[in-house]
Amino acid sequence: MQWRRIKAEILAYGGARPVGVPDRLKDRSTAGPGARGPGSFFFATDAGRVRVAVNDDSQLSLSVADDGSAVITGPDLRVEGWLEEPVLHCPRQAYITLSEGCIFGCRYCAVPNGPCRYKTPDDVEALVLPVLDRIDAISITSGVLDSVEADETRALAVVSRVMRFGIPVGVSIYPTLETPGRLHDLGVSEVKFNVETATADLFAEMCPGLDYDLVWKVLAASVRLFGKNRVYSNVIMGLGETDEEMVACIRRLTGMGVIPVIRPLTPSGGVAHFPRPDADRLLRTAEVLKEALATAGLDPAQALTMCSACTGCDLVPGVDL
Ligand code: SF4
Repeated sequence: MQWRRIKAEILAYGGARPVGVPDRLKDRSTAGPGARGPGSFFFATDAGRVRVAVNDDSQLSLSVADDGSAVITGPDLRVEGWLEEPVLHCPRQAYITLSEGCIFGCRYCAVPNGPCRYKTPDDVEALVLPVLDRIDAISITSGVLDSVEADETRALAVVSRVMRFGIPVGVSIYPTLETPGRLHDLGVSEVKFNVETATADLFAEMCPGLDYDLVWKVLAASVRLFGKNRVYSNVIMGLGETDEEMVACIRRLTGMGVIPVIRPLTPSGGVAHFPRPDADRLLRTAEVLKEALATAGLDPAQALTMCSACTGCDLVPGVDL
């Protein structure tokens, strides 16, 4: 079985039951898929990496031997590899969430339900310093604790501080129109501003109070500043969009120089009853994405930071297929 099919199946199963896996290999995220969930592991083979959420109801199981080798087994699936140790959130990165809470209530997101905390520049420096020899990048994300402007100001202070480490910094926050310019002035390498849904109607339904058009404007401005292969946008697959709507969104993003990160839905929050996209849809969409990126001359394998450098949660053209 090809790696792309194996990874699509693992993502579609929504995780695995760990058997005898040491806790130090587990990530407990406050952002991204499975935020505040039971944690996840990073399973790797020579072909690629996949984030495997802890899911005691899954039909897959993940076992680890004393020598560190790991195997995932399930119906019609058996794949051997090893587990990678996450540094801060994921392997080889300090991927840090600043505001662990959010005033917005996007229906698919588990973050707003948790306690609200914020990391200062001192907090972030204290996290990064001990792991500097194990990371290639620093990635910064945040919820919106009180206002978009206030969180942007706090994020800029953190970014100013971490630039001194001299490794690529990526930032994904909810933006204002000025955010791309301010991040560019600080020397940030890459940005990710998420359109989240394939259509404006779905965005209005899923993300009340947020501005779909603003995100697109900010992406266009970002491409002008950061250039090729340095601007990214998450689009969640499985919120009710059709294949045609997803393809149109992919082509709109790539056509303006943005690399789409097509993220299969992790059903939680207000969409906990939605089904996960199946493996065939993940593969079909990844093929469209691959072709659209090639047409636009874009390559997510060049990513230095954030999700396209990690590749744990999505099928990434140029890496997985
Ligand atoms: S792909 Fe992104 S959200 Fe998923 S584990 Fe990697 S950094 Fe986190």
